[in-house]
Amino acid sequence: MEEYELAIIGGGPTGLFSTFCAGLRDIKSVTLEALSEASGQILKFYPVKDVLDVPGIPSIKGMDLSKALITQAKLFGAEITLNSKVTDVRKDGENFLIEVNGESKYKSKAVLICTGIGSLRPTKINVPGEDIYEEKGVYYSVIDREAFSGKTVAVIGGGDAGFDWANQIIGSCKKIYIVEYMQNVKAMERSVNDLLKTGKAEILTSFEVKEIIGDGSKVSSLKIAGVKTGEVKNLAVDAVIVAIGHKTEPYSLKSLDIELVNKKIKVDENMSTNVPGIYAAGDCAVFSSRPKMGLLAVCFSDAYMAVNNIKRYLNPASSVFGEHSTNLKLG
Ligand SMILES: Cc1cc2nc3c(=O)[nH]c(=O)nc-3n(C[C@H](O)[C@H](O)[C@H](O)COP(=O)(O)OP(=O)(O)OC[C@H]3O[C@@H](n4cnc5c(N)ncnc54)[C@H](O)[C@@H]3O)c2cc1C
Repeated sequence: MEEYELAIIGGGPTGLFSTFCAGLRDIKSVTLEALSEASGQILKFYPVKDVLDVPGIPSIKGMDLSKALITQAKLFGAEITLNSKVTDVRKDGENFLIEVNGESKYKSKAVLICTGIGSLRPTKINVPGEDIYEEKGVYYSVIDREAFSGKTVAVIGGGDAGFDWANQIIGSCKKIYIVEYMQNVKAMERSVNDLLKTGKAEILTSFEVKEIIGDGSKVSSLKIAGVKTGEVKNLAVDAVIVAIGHKTEPYSLKSLDIELVNKKIKVDENMSTNVPGIYAAGDCAVFSSRPKMGLLAVCFSDAYMAVNNIKRYLNPASSVFGEHSTNLKLG
């Protein structure tokens, strides 16, 4: 069994920056990410949007921030292990046993939980054709805008996410249909108006998707029916983007009695939980005494605080504050 000083659970922005901080403090760490890609909410929710509030970076696309965070996390050679969902953590003498995908895999002296809003899975519409054309015309986010260039696209879901995706691609698309089950769309007015102003969008409310049709290798149409009227329409489309939300599976701390506040992990000012050796940071962690914002800058600050305090937990003779990164000579 592989042994580490620190196991970081979750490879979102908090986990990635914690990985960098662990390297900075010379802590042998492993970062375990449930999904096949690191970066958490950034890649799932806003890969092609401009992030404007990362200090010192006036504007950066989510996707570019994700790449930069991963590069920075690996600066000191730390391991980031993908497709590794932590299913339990148990106390084992002085160590913790980390169970990954149902199997005890790692031993670690300390654990930093950075699971954010939990493992994310897009909600499916569950209609015939959806699974057949997944990634071959059916998508759950927009990672590559060019993939929709010149195409007619149906976006399923008239919420903020649906309109956001639609606005990201409308410039190069031929036409976009927004298909919404409810009587009205729920996205922000500005987002709706921006899309309609292009003259290339049509909003179909009170319609539900019945089937995604194609030739086996690509999508050719979408069958929808009026929720109340039953009126059937076949829309000729090249692609379907499903934007009806994500299911989150919060990390369940089965074997450790960790104190929670409103389903989030309660931490003290050192980012320590009530279980010695277990720390939490980022969106999954809260202080009971004050409100906490779900923002990247806050996550990065949490990560620094947590890792420096973990350093002292691992070696009580260490200072909480290491040194400025500007003191380091790399390469
Ligand atoms: C639409 C949207 C736009 C946003 N825009 C901004 C913005 O402009 N500026 C800003 O500052 N903030 C923004 N945010 C907020 C910001 O993205 C979050 O605060 C940040 O992503 C939280 O990072 P995190 O690492 O704590 O959690 P997450 O990003 O949720 O990452 C958690 C990671 O842990 C993994 N994980 C969960 N459970 C397990 C497990 N059991 N085992 C292994 N891995 C696990 C998940 O797969 C995920 O990768 C936005 C959020 C959204 C939804």
